[in-house]
Amino acid sequence: MYYSTNGRAKKVSFGEALLRGLAPDKGLYMPGHVPMLDNSSLKSLFGKPYHEVAFIIARNILRSEINPEDLYPLVNDAYNFKVPLEKVYDHKYIMRLDQGPTASFKDFAARMMGRLMQYFLQLQNKKMLILTATSGDTGSAIANAFYGLDNIQVVILYPENEVTPRQRRQMTTLRKNIRIISLQGKFDDCQALVKQAFMDESLTYLNLSSANSINIGRLLPQSFYYFYAWSQLATSVNDQVIYSVPSGNFGNMMGGLLARKMGLPVKRFIIATNENDEVPEYWRTGKYATIIPSRNCISSAMNVGHPSNMARVIALYGGTMDEKGNIILEPDIRQMREDIFTVSITDLYTTEVLKETYRQYGVLTEPHGAAGWAGLMNYLKHYPEDDNPDQLAISLETAHPAKFPEQIRTLLGIDPELPLSMEGLDLAEESYDKLENNYTQFKNYLSARY
Ligand SMILES: *Cc1c(COP(=O)(O)O)cnc(C)c1O
Repeated sequence: MYYSTNGRAKKVSFGEALLRGLAPDKGLYMPGHVPMLDNSSLKSLFGKPYHEVAFIIARNILRSEINPEDLYPLVNDAYNFKVPLEKVYDHKYIMRLDQGPTASFKDFAARMMGRLMQYFLQLQNKKMLILTATSGDTGSAIANAFYGLDNIQVVILYPENEVTPRQRRQMTTLRKNIRIISLQGKFDDCQALVKQAFMDESLTYLNLSSANSINIGRLLPQSFYYFYAWSQLATSVNDQVIYSVPSGNFGNMMGGLLARKMGLPVKRFIIATNENDEVPEYWRTGKYATIIPSRNCISSAMNVGHPSNMARVIALYGGTMDEKGNIILEPDIRQMREDIFTVSITDLYTTEVLKETYRQYGVLTEPHGAAGWAGLMNYLKHYPEDDNPDQLAISLETAHPAKFPEQIRTLLGIDPELPLSMEGLDLAEESYDKLENNYTQFKNYLSARY
């Protein structure tokens, strides 16, 4: 059963947590029990293709919710693209999570979540309106994953000045059951409007749900690729891996922490944030202070001044954090510091590392992946014993460089090759609505259309 991080809502099944998104007490759902994979199951992952690894992990977590015969086609259909593991040097790798239909790692969660939601909605013969705030990549991944579904409508809010033209076009060129709102505000404002709509009882009739990483359905699929990369690169089941995760809302990171709970041998996680350094500061001082408004950095999808998944990280370590970021019950911060190394990467360092990685190794990254790799480089300076040739370390590249062509051109003087999924995008016709950062206006917008 799934409990709420605020501890005042009743426990629910995965299916219910998935369709609700946020718990009624404004908390986030967490699995009460995470079943461990034994050594032979871990061993069975070695060398398997991505969708097979994903299926084994999904079956393990969802065993009481979906029977394997129903689950397999969902997983198989969601993961029909490549997951390249690119060697940089020694046993240090970049995992490219950028080959899905919208070229960011958000596709991994969105495609699985869309299929799971459709499965549970059909069982119950229900309809639903998905409301999502995006800093760029969630919106396009969700729009694409839910496009054309009969029983699901989608409304996405993005901050008008914080997404790139290509990120925007991946959302605004779809139409059908997908509506896009350009909000005069920041990502945190978009997220606040969405949260307020969820709390608004006069909108209950819409059967709202969220596809943000507040939805537990986003997190579970984000544990699969941690198993996958390890199962392709580790030399034995005891081989411990270091993961570096460029982080904003900490959904990606939570996927990794769940993977470790399920038995993945992770030596250390590295959280690399941009200049929104509230989490590294918390690790350093033990005091958590949100950054409002969040700082504009070149890794724009990580411009988050109060990551919603912090409440989950804290819960995993025995504490309680409310939705405003107040710590109600202290977590085991000593253990958190031991398991997770955190570092804030400046824009300047990000661009230096991006250039250096390309020049020295011929490995092309973009600002988010470069921040992740910079985090790993920083970690290895602190722990030189882990910079030995045998230590497996994997940094996540969370978006395709072609999503940030202007930056890549400026920094490297090259035009990143467009992935197949993005061809024709620059010419397609767009459709979206502009709104002020005002709840009443937003609410009226929804009631008038749905
Ligand atoms: C969303 C996103 C991130 C941040 O992921 P979180 O799960 O929010 O921490 C990093 N990079 C890219 C490209 C993203 O789209």
